[in-house]
Order: sequence, then structure tokens, then C-alpha cells
Amino acid sequence: MKENRLVVVGGGFAGINLAKKLAGKDQFKVTIVDKNNYHFFPPLLYQVSTAFIEASNISYPFRKLFQERDNIRFHMGSLIKVNPESNTIETDTGILSYDYLVLALGTETNFFGNPNVMRCGLPMKTIDDALNIRNHVLLRLEEAVRATALEDKARLSNIVVAGGGPTGVEMVGMMAELAHKIAAKDYPEAASRIGAIYLIDGSPTLLGPMSKTAQAESFKVLSKFGVKIMLNTLVKDYVNETVILSTGESIKAATLIWTSGVIGREVPGLAPEVVARGRRLAVDEINRVKGYTNIFAVGDIAYQTTDPDYASSHPQLAQVAIQQGTLLAENLLRIDRGQAPKPFRYNNKGSMAIISKFKAVVDLPKGSFKGFFAWLVWLFIHIIPLVGFRNRVKLAFNWLFSFLTDDPTLRLIIRPRKKEISTQPCVKVDGNSSIDRAASPPIR
Ligand SMILES: Cc1cc2nc3c(=O)[nH]c(=O)nc-3n(C[C@H](O)[C@H](O)[C@H](O)COP(=O)(O)OP(=O)(O)OC[C@H]3O[C@@H](n4cnc5c(N)ncnc54)[C@H](O)[C@@H]3O)c2cc1C
Repeated sequence: MKENRLVVVGGGFAGINLAKKLAGKDQFKVTIVDKNNYHFFPPLLYQVSTAFIEASNISYPFRKLFQERDNIRFHMGSLIKVNPESNTIETDTGILSYDYLVLALGTETNFFGNPNVMRCGLPMKTIDDALNIRNHVLLRLEEAVRATALEDKARLSNIVVAGGGPTGVEMVGMMAELAHKIAAKDYPEAASRIGAIYLIDGSPTLLGPMSKTAQAESFKVLSKFGVKIMLNTLVKDYVNETVILSTGESIKAATLIWTSGVIGREVPGLAPEVVARGRRLAVDEINRVKGYTNIFAVGDIAYQTTDPDYASSHPQLAQVAIQQGTLLAENLLRIDRGQAPKPFRYNNKGSMAIISKFKAVVDLPKGSFKGFFAWLVWLFIHIIPLVGFRNRVKLAFNWLFSFLTDDPTLRLIIRPRKKEISTQPCVKVDGNSSIDRAASPPIR
């Protein structure tokens, strides 16, 4: 039996669903390449960043995921370059050869070329980003309670979220919950509520791609919670902890969270003409990158215009990535058997967003609903796809505890210690070393 070397770069929704489908299919020797050693679930990142759940609740190590899958291997490394002429990829940890290559790297935050926002704004794309936001907000609040001037207290505790899509809406909804239910208990030094939460978007509505019901409900619920919503407004710059808006107004805020847009991750080595809108890779109806015979792209990074219902490509959603990854695995098996591959058609199962505790909005292809039932559906839908039974149980328990007590206990500022990097190599110390042995702790 011929063995095909298949390299999949990116172990997100598209990459792992493709690999899972090929598990046990020995005609493919699959190597998943990812810069992290874990798969994670982006839809719940905002709950990590607001200290509601632990990062480990929504992450799972690749090596454990594919423990008993003999034809699947993991390579930890970041893609540097594709070499189509030699069928190899370069990563920062080595070179890999392939017969088929699948690019499933997803997207990164788009700062629209603003260097100040890039430097001082906080993106929300990865587990690192979410933990960074958590630490940043908690540190600023500690500074705010120590500050003496009222305007410093306000600046340090104001939070501006740029981007009124699902991530921005879910983020401010949760922050408003925390501000109402926890801030007064945790920060008794702040006699009255200080600081405000702003949600800013350039379009005329929140939740742009969702139904009118979802847009109106999110605006109503968040406004009632005290979130200051500014529509038809763009963030122009972020200078000296001041958010400068297109309306000429500005907001003093030590925290600017940027959820305003994404752009495809760069893939050096491919012909420039395959790079389409949003830096996505132009693919044909079976997700093959245009102009190549053995390179494919799936998920957020793929730009496909052959699906009759999505002529300007698909929305960048988990379901699209899952369905593309799964179909590509089936198509690779078909190609291997000499059968014709099937074109991709997206089966839209609906979209949803949570606005606050007990309130969510759900859009299905045949209608929308909102409120408590929508919230229950949201909870269920977000537990089922988590990787790992233990993660599902832990998350369900954490949610139950947090919703019942209104007081989760994860508001910890934990940062890895930054160590001075020495230019001297570490060498074996001999018996006559001048190290002060008395200063070292005794070995027991
Ligand atoms: C905060 C947030 C909330 C979201 N909420 C929802 C939601 O509620 N519903 C929904 O449908 N969609 C949601 N999405 C979108 C959804 O997460 C994406 O559509 C989906 O993750 C795309 O899957 P993917 O496999 O294409 O890419 P990703 O899931 O982004 O996976 C890409 C993988 O590639 C790896 N990678 C990146 N660069 C490199 C490199 N250079 N070398 C090696 N590996 C690399 C990454 O580590 C990652 O594992 C949300 C996204 C975010 C950021």
C-alpha cells in the first residue's frame, strides 16, 4: 500500500477535524504542525479573559488527543515557509517533506495598520491573548484603587472594546456582569462605582452579520447593563491611554481591547496571486489552492467562491472550518482511491451569541429566538464540541458554580517570571568553584 505523507499546518477546528477523520486510515501518514502543543476552543476565550473559566477548560494537548492513533504524529513548530518546488515546509523547529500539504493556520488580529493600537491595544485571538487581558485588567484595577485622583481612577478602570461583533458583545456582557456583581465585593476601597465599559463599532448595529432580532436584543440588554455603546464610530488611534474616535471625541482608558477584525496568516513561499481578500488563500471547489496540485487550504484562511450560496466566500466560523476539514479528509481518501472528489457546500446550522447571564440570541436558518431558552441552547452547544470528556465536565461544573455564586475565584494575576537572559553559557562547576556554597540551600 502506498503511504502518502500528509502535513497539516494548524491544529484548529479545520486541522483536527481533518486529522480525526483520517485516524486509522493507514494510507495517510499525517503530521500535524502547530506552534502551540494544544488545541483550543476560541468561542469561549472571552470567559478566560474575564476570569470566569480556566484556560485548561478549553484547551487540550495534541499529543493526548492523538495518543492511540498510529498514523498521526505531532510536530511543534511555527511555519516559516512553504517550498512547493521541493514539497517541503520550513518551520522554526525543522524541515518537513510532504506529498500533500494542508494549510489550516486560521487568521490573526487585523490592526488595520495602526501601530499604536498594535503596540498598546489588547488582541483577543489566542489563549495567550485572553490571559494577557485578564492580567492587564486586574493589574489596572489594583492601580485604580491605589490612585488618589478621581480622573486617574477612571482612566485605570475604564475599558474600551473596539468591535461590536459576537466577540465584542460577549466580552462586554461578561465584563458588565463582573462589574455589577463582583467589583463592589472585591474592591471595597472604591466607594462608588468607578470606570465605565464602552463598546465601539463602525457600523450602524451590533452583531452585524446576525438577524435584526439579535441586533436589537444585544443593544437593549447591554444598554440596560450600563455599557456605553457607540455605533457608526471608529477607533482612529490610541495615544497615552486615550482612545481617539472618528467623531472627534476621546476616552481616557488604560484598557483597549481590539476585536475589530482578522486577516489571514501569512504563508511565505506561495505565488502572490493566490492571496485573495483579507489575505485568505484562493482555493477551488475542493479547497485546493489555485495553481497547485497538492496544496490545500481549509477553514478561516481559505477563500472559496465556488459555493453557489456563498459567492463572496464563507463566513469565518467554526462550522465552516469543521465541515471543510472533514470533507477534505474524505476527498483525499477519494483521490487516493482514484474517485472524483466532492465540491464543498456549507451547511449553515445557525449562529448564536451570549449577551449576559441567562440571555442569548440564536439565529437558525428558519428563524431567531432570544432570552433564557436561547441561553440554555448556547450553553449546551458550547459544551458538546469541547475536546475531552473531562473538559466538558469541568466546564459544566465551573459554570454551575460561577452562575450560582456569582463569584468565580479565578481573578489571579499570574505571570511567568521574566528571567534575564545571560550571554554566558551554562557550564559545569568544578569542585574549586568560587561559588559561595554556604549561600546555597543544603541538599537533603
Ligand atoms: C474570540 C473568538 C470567538 C469566536 N467565537 C466563535 C463562535 O462563537 N462561533 C463560531 O462559529 N466561530 C467563532 N469564532 C471563529 C472560529 O474560532 C474560527 O472560525 C475557527 O477557529 C477557524 O478554524 P481554523 O481551523 O481555520 O483556524 P484556528 O481555529 O484559528 O486554528 C489555527 C491553528 O493554527 C495554528 N497556527 C497559527 N499560526 C501558525 C504557524 N505559523 N505555524 C503553526 N501553526 C500555526 C494556531 O495555533 C491554531 O491552532 C471565534 C473566534 C475568536 C477569535
